[in-house]
Amino acid sequence: MTLPDILVAVQPTLPYRGLLAELCRVSARVYRSGLSRGTSGNISVRTAEGMLITPSGLALDEVAENNVCHVDAQGQTIDGWQTRLPFKPSSEWVIHQALYHARPDCHAVIHAHSVHATLLAACHQPINRHIIAESAYHLGTVPLVPYTMPGSHALANEVAHAATDANCLLLANHGVLVLGEDLREAFYRLELLETIAEMVYKARLLEQQHGFDMEDLKPQWLGREEVAAIQALK
Ligand SMILES: [Zn+2]
Repeated sequence: MTLPDILVAVQPTLPYRGLLAELCRVSARVYRSGLSRGTSGNISVRTAEGMLITPSGLALDEVAENNVCHVDAQGQTIDGWQTRLPFKPSSEWVIHQALYHARPDCHAVIHAHSVHATLLAACHQPINRHIIAESAYHLGTVPLVPYTMPGSHALANEVAHAATDANCLLLANHGVLVLGEDLREAFYRLELLETIAEMVYKARLLEQQHGFDMEDLKPQWLGREEVAAIQALK
């Protein structure tokens, strides 16, 4: 048994057992799906006092009940969870907090650097055209948040502003953020966002080749009226 294991073992009444277990499960799933590699990415879920958030410096498949952090709106560790030291909350907790403040309907946030969505973000390409109906229905427009320092209050402000009418954000030269009513919804949004980003990236490659010998493969983007009709189904 490691020291943190022992600390959890003697603290069986730690609250939010269900959310903790779900956070660990979704973290591992994000990592196994290749949506976040190395020690990048962070995930949180809202609680009555603040949020449970994955720790700094660990890969998402290393997140476990004995290293998840519980912080309040100021990023301070909540009483009863200090025994989890030396694990510190992700340095990007301020971004998560800004989203919970801006969007009372949002209860889970995932930040990742999934390859295709992050590539579009690095190329400053918002997803503002739709190649399939599912994208228009589930994602809507995916705005591009201008680059500011990761983990900074400036980025938190930009993100909170952009999220007032969007559940998926591209962060220029950085990565992606997805919001959900719960962790399950946030995970599936991230998975779909990455899938659509890959399609958009490949469609734009095909567009570039239009005029040579790829006429039959030219992507047909959905028009504004078609997108409006799809989104009216909600
Ligand atoms: Zn980041």
